[in-house]
Amino acid sequence: MIKYGKYTKEGGWTMELLEKRIQKDGIVKAGNVLKVDSFLNHQMDMELFNEMGKEFRRIFADRPVNKILTIEASGIGIACIAAQYFQVPVVFAKKAQSINLDGEVYSTKIESFTHKRVYDVIVSKKYLGPEDHVLILDDFLANGCAVNGLIDLIESAGAVVEGIGIVIEKGQQAGGRLLREKGYRVESLAVIERMNEETGEIVFH
Ligand code: 5GP
Repeated sequence: MIKYGKYTKEGGWTMELLEKRIQKDGIVKAGNVLKVDSFLNHQMDMELFNEMGKEFRRIFADRPVNKILTIEASGIGIACIAAQYFQVPVVFAKKAQSINLDGEVYSTKIESFTHKRVYDVIVSKKYLGPEDHVLILDDFLANGCAVNGLIDLIESAGAVVEGIGIVIEKGQQAGGRLLREKGYRVESLAVIERMNEETGEIVFH
């Protein structure tokens, strides 16, 4: 059996398979952006997604998750694959194009790290409510705006945040630390400690 991950000294979980793929195919861009379009954000490697989905299930096996929440677009793929292992539905928060939000939705504002603009983000009240125990999944965690927006939607609905699963956390940005300090359980499959735009070096936590 192939062993995909290992526990680190700090007790967190890292996926060796994912780290190796990031080292091989990740491109460090200006502004602290990591491009992983060849396997995560544009073309998607389903074999890798499948292993990541299994990992999220294993990590959060002790939580009574009945719904996965993510945000369009790049969280949807991994959320769907993981959901097959949890056997729960996926809801994705939508970036609203217009501001004519009716009373049928929960809404919040999220500033996009990569596009530097603020979106109104919505979830229908039909698909999130006080009975829900929600696992948040997303591709990246940087400053935490996206995840905090999703938490805001879940709390507006009176639902419970059971945990936060992230594919790549950029540990040099404060999002993960602040969420953990607030008491949320954040589990990232790979945590980047630093990266160098000139040399292309990527160092994991
Ligand atoms: P945050 O809201 O935590 O600042 O940023 C997370 C969101 O921004 C993610 O949903 C992801 O789409 C995007 N993002 C943040 N940093 C990166 C990055 O280095 N590379 C890519 N491809 N997306 C990022």
